[in-house]
Amino acid sequence: MFKGILIEKDESGYRASVQELDEAQLPEGNVTVRVSHSTLNYKDGLAITGKGPVVRKFPMVPGIDLVGVVEESTHPAYQAGDSVVLNGWGVGEVHWGGLAQKARLNGDWLVPLPPAFTPQQAMAIGTAGYTAMLCVLALERHGVRPEHGEILVTGAAGGVGSVAIAVLAKLGYTVVAATGRPQDADYLKSLGATEVVERALFSSPGKPLGKERWAGAVDVVGSHVLANVCATTKYRGVVAACGLAAGMDFPATVAPFILRGVTLAGVDSVMCPRAERLVAWQRLGTDLDVAKLGQISREVGLAEAIPLADSLLKGEVRGRIVVDVN
Ligand code: NDP
Repeated sequence: MFKGILIEKDESGYRASVQELDEAQLPEGNVTVRVSHSTLNYKDGLAITGKGPVVRKFPMVPGIDLVGVVEESTHPAYQAGDSVVLNGWGVGEVHWGGLAQKARLNGDWLVPLPPAFTPQQAMAIGTAGYTAMLCVLALERHGVRPEHGEILVTGAAGGVGSVAIAVLAKLGYTVVAATGRPQDADYLKSLGATEVVERALFSSPGKPLGKERWAGAVDVVGSHVLANVCATTKYRGVVAACGLAAGMDFPATVAPFILRGVTLAGVDSVMCPRAERLVAWQRLGTDLDVAKLGQISREVGLAEAIPLADSLLKGEVRGRIVVDVN
């Protein structure tokens, strides 16, 4: 038996609770992992609260991230005792996830725990941090360099935003943080932002084109914010879009793309090919100051993760939540 969060949906409703689970209930897979830590991402918040259609099979153990030690494996790349990390691949959505003491997975989904990080640090990064790195890689791939000018990070005090700021600042970019929490300006500056601006500047319907300011941007918010960010991006600038914290809609015009040659680079972490994941984790090892992970994250237990899911969706959680499942 082992402990985990279980999401159930039946006649009595949608609910998440910590339960004793039986190993026989674990899904099929060729690697069994003794999980040490998981995390709470925005998507886990949607899954636990039922506020978004993330979970597609019930009952479900949520948790799109996990770190742990292989207990049993018939996968050629892994053997008992190996430390591994998992992000995405539908885990916590269609396959039992990381918010439990055990998981059984397809070994192809795993990556070795990067030597630069402890298990807790890997989860302080988690999907949010790995996605932030994918956004930075997208900016680089499209030619954005520190000397080109300011990079805007939206949803700055959240998980993706916090890690994006820390990485971009370490790489020498000038980072402007857009937040709905101006009271967190000191936190954002300590991560490396040179200026903090109000989220409200971007939240309302705007013009097709505005004054050019950003050489690049990392957007986790979507909706009017993404539209206004594109409209104020400089000629040939690049916007990496990965999130929908304000909505799935994109009420924009094509003006920034056809008149200023702006690139909108979509970023997905879930099905991202293994080779790029390995690059992202390797780059996190060199381009993220691990000392900042202490500021960015805090640790909670399994039971505490359930009420925190709702706070996270309300934008009340700063940085990242690491969940010690034991
Ligand atoms: P967090 O909840 O940690 O951060 C989101 C931040 O967005 C909040 O902290 C807040 O920042 C801002 N925000 C929240 N609500 C609103 C709103 N209504 N309007 C404007 N801003 C808002 O989530 P994560 O960082 O984990 O994830 C951010 C987004 O990225 C989510 O939408 C998530 O689904 C997406 N994501 C996508 C991935 C992919 O593969 N494409 C992978 C990981 C995440 P502040 O208070 O500073 O304004």
